[in-house]
Amino acid sequence: MLVGSLYYSLSYQGDHHDGTRQILLLVLVFLGGAMIQGLVLTQGLLVRLRLFNQVSGELAAGNLAQRLPTNSRISELNHLAASLNQMADTLQRSFRQRQITLVESETKFTTIFRTSPEPMALATLAEGRLIDVNHSLLEFFGYQRDEMLGYTAVELNLWVDLRQRDRYLALLAQQGRVRNLEIQVATKRGEIKTVLLSAEVQTLDGQDCLIVTHRDVTDRKRAELALQDSEARFRQLAETVEEGFFVYDTEAASYTYVNPSYATILGLTAQTFDGMAHWLDNIHADDRDRIIAALGREQQGDNFDQEYRYLTPSGELRWLRSKAFPLCNEAGAVVRVVGTVENITRRKDTEAALRQSQERFRHAFDHAPYGIALVSTTGQFVQANAYYCHLLGYSEAELRTLTFQDITHPDDRADDWARFQRLIAGETPTYEAQKRYLTKQNQIVPAIVNSALIYDEAGQPLYSVGHVRDRRDRLAIDRIKNEFISVVSHELRTPITSIQGALALLGAGVYADRPEQTQRLLAIAINNSDRLVRLVDDILSFERLESGRVQLEKELCSVAQLMYQAVDSVQPMAEKSGITIVTTPLDTTLWAAPDAIIQVLTNLLSNAIKFACPQGTVWLKASREGADEGAEEGAEEGASPSLLFTVRDQGRGIPPDKLDLVFERFQQVDVSDSRRRGGTGLGLAICKRIVQQHQGHIWVESTVSVGSTFYVALPLSPGVNHA
Ligand code: ADP
Repeated sequence: MLVGSLYYSLSYQGDHHDGTRQILLLVLVFLGGAMIQGLVLTQGLLVRLRLFNQVSGELAAGNLAQRLPTNSRISELNHLAASLNQMADTLQRSFRQRQITLVESETKFTTIFRTSPEPMALATLAEGRLIDVNHSLLEFFGYQRDEMLGYTAVELNLWVDLRQRDRYLALLAQQGRVRNLEIQVATKRGEIKTVLLSAEVQTLDGQDCLIVTHRDVTDRKRAELALQDSEARFRQLAETVEEGFFVYDTEAASYTYVNPSYATILGLTAQTFDGMAHWLDNIHADDRDRIIAALGREQQGDNFDQEYRYLTPSGELRWLRSKAFPLCNEAGAVVRVVGTVENITRRKDTEAALRQSQERFRHAFDHAPYGIALVSTTGQFVQANAYYCHLLGYSEAELRTLTFQDITHPDDRADDWARFQRLIAGETPTYEAQKRYLTKQNQIVPAIVNSALIYDEAGQPLYSVGHVRDRRDRLAIDRIKNEFISVVSHELRTPITSIQGALALLGAGVYADRPEQTQRLLAIAINNSDRLVRLVDDILSFERLESGRVQLEKELCSVAQLMYQAVDSVQPMAEKSGITIVTTPLDTTLWAAPDAIIQVLTNLLSNAIKFACPQGTVWLKASREGADEGAEEGAEEGASPSLLFTVRDQGRGIPPDKLDLVFERFQQVDVSDSRRRGGTGLGLAICKRIVQQHQGHIWVESTVSVGSTFYVALPLSPGVNHA
């Protein structure tokens, strides 16, 4: 308006004022230009200011990427924009840094939380509801994650004692945190565990939370309890056990602990107990060096375990066993010895008794007059005595590789095994059976076996023990007895038959008027009854000698007298056959049963007469053999003196294979000898028994068709038998 009014006033004043008007116009033009320029500038400033306003608003809203242009023509504005941009850069950098730190610390927390070996939980502060739990906690309590999240410890029954929870909440309220509060918690498995509970309040995502950690100290708690318990138990035990117990301090050279039994075992009272020296002094002299040597090793760290004899102050000898364990310090030096001592006297006595009884048993086993064998339940040989081995021809080692079935006669195996099985099964406690064995040399041995089972401690069958008796002797005796009975009955029957026949004829009166025939029949009857009497006498005398029931009554006899009496009794018989008996007596005495010796000589002489050639000669001689006269007779020097009777004939002789046999009962060289020559077949058997009962020998030397010499050697006891 000013410019307009100025222009109007200039235009009205006309030409005369042309110069002025031109100046005014110029002024107006400049003024207008300046006004336009001012308007334009103002407009640009306004735009910039609006931009300033917008960017600073964005920055304040957290959009830190916004920047202001610095290309304004107004340098002040550019300065202002640059400082704002710089401030925005700094803000953005520090924001980024904070963001990184936050992420890092969150990662750290999560990692620790997840991987911590200690059970950890995140719970709301207000209610204690579980927001998160780590793996250790799930394992510790035995729950699945979804079984825990969203629940409180009370709802899950984790608290064993709710008073402990009250304490926990009180601490949390007072101090804002809890450190290592010892509490008991229950796991899902129902175990009660002792934990040290810690809790810290934290704000997470704008929510007040509790970070709760648990430290399981159950084992420690138990170990503590166990230690207290074991100490108490140790005391109780140490005070009541029978074994002595001691703790010896090596440096102080004294006992730091001994229990009551220790003194009792050593026969000491608390007053007389004066330590190590006393103990050592009272050890039996024969054991002391060994104990001292073992103590030396103990000082080097070796355990001590010795049995020894110990004399108590009251003079009682005891067997003790001490065991000790040296304890070393870090430098390896023994500082303490802990040990026990036991009175093993009774055990030692029992051991000795057991050893003796084992030895006795072993002796009885080894020297039993019958076989004993132990076999396992499978029949395998375990042990066999000498008799058994000898009987079967195997060594004990060989038997151990065999079963009893291996040495049983094949025909007896099935029955034998069945019996054994019944025994093992416990159906029969023992059995006795007859069976046949096969020796290593394949000989058959008939035997009687008695078997019984031996059980182990658990009552299970362990071994079968078998007693084996050889039946061969028994069988031989039975055979001989049977033979004897049949022979005797035959021998008796023969003369009886003759007597019966003769008497029957006489009784029938057949030869009533023929006295000669009658006489002959009577002679037969008498002859046979004589023979019968002889036979019965011989059988009885043999039986008496054989059974040993009758002891021969010995006395000092004159040898010559014995010889003469014998010759006298056979003289009629010799004369009947025209036989001459040549006697060479010996003037000496003999300790003998005279009748028995006369019976022997009579028997030998009558045999010689029976078997001699008619009109021949029979020699009876006595001589002294051995000892004082030994040198002259060529006998061995030093041999005991003996009397030798010799009965020699020149008769038919005895074949070599019968030389021994003729001394057996009813053994004759010729079956007709008994009948034709009136013998019983028992004479020489009786002689042999009589001579044996005088500790002598009888034998015969003979050459067929030349003659026989029977020898009887009887011992002459020095001092008793003298010339
Ligand atoms: P016996 O009563 O039969 O004579 P012995 O036992 O005395 O019985 O003799 C047994 C057998 O020995 C005789 O039967 C005979 O065969 C034989 N014998 C005994 N002595 C002699 C001898 N001196 N010469 C030949 N044979 C003899």
